[in-house]
Amino acid sequence: MKIPQTISSYCPKCNEHTDHTVTIYKKGQERSMAIGARRHERELRGYGGQKYPIQRNKSKTTDKKTTCLKCKKCGHVSMRRGIRMKKLEIVR
Ligand SMILES: [Zn+2]
Repeated sequence: MKIPQTISSYCPKCNEHTDHTVTIYKKGQERSMAIGARRHERELRGYGGQKYPIQRNKSKTTDKKTTCLKCKKCGHVSMRRGIRMKKLEIVR
């Protein structure tokens, strides 16, 4: 799917439709010292290690692509609900 770099969308801060710059959401780097990561590491220790089943064979062939919309007027960043697709491209 192709999406233009600038789209007009609703901004909850400005309470009106404004121009937004579109970027594709990317997951940030995981922090090894975050409380969840430390707890998970602790739970894996000792007898009875893995706490939940690891999913090995996936049925979905695509993953959800989320777009970030940044308001050009106030700079507020909002995200759109992810849609399943093979490829997401930003076109000028
Ligand atoms: Zn705004």
